[in-house]
Amino acid sequence: MSLRDLYQDVIVDHSKHPRNFHKLSQASSQGEGYNPLCGDKVVIYVKLDHGKVEDLSFEGSGCAISTASASLLTECLKSKKVSDVEVLFKKFHSLVTGEVAEELEKEPVLGKLAVFEGVQEFPARVKCATLAWHTLKSALKNNHEVVTTE
Ligand code: ZN
Repeated sequence: MSLRDLYQDVIVDHSKHPRNFHKLSQASSQGEGYNPLCGDKVVIYVKLDHGKVEDLSFEGSGCAISTASASLLTECLKSKKVSDVEVLFKKFHSLVTGEVAEELEKEPVLGKLAVFEGVQEFPARVKCATLAWHTLKSALKNNHEVVTTE
């Protein structure tokens, strides 16, 4: 099995069986995002504790890429520092847009989130892949605005 097939399998798995797909009753903040190009909608719930993401979850509906991205995001960012989340978002964004990512191997590493590398071949799907991240960023700011990818 090629790495590409493996990546594809992870994305399909997460889109069919999203992890942390529920409302977080003890959320300290939440963000709402919408990608009008594709119709993807996502709500991200975060529970912060001393600058750390203690727990997070999501709800919403959208295409396979947006669902898998939100699912993997909630799985991979649990117990990460808020400052690390910002670095990871930059790295993730570079990865899916195919921009030269600086120091991808440096901590914090993307790990499983790297499965979205193939998105760079489909520029129209970048917004699907990053919607959950933009929404999480808004949740961390707690600004109560609906984020759109436009
Ligand atoms: Zn989409």
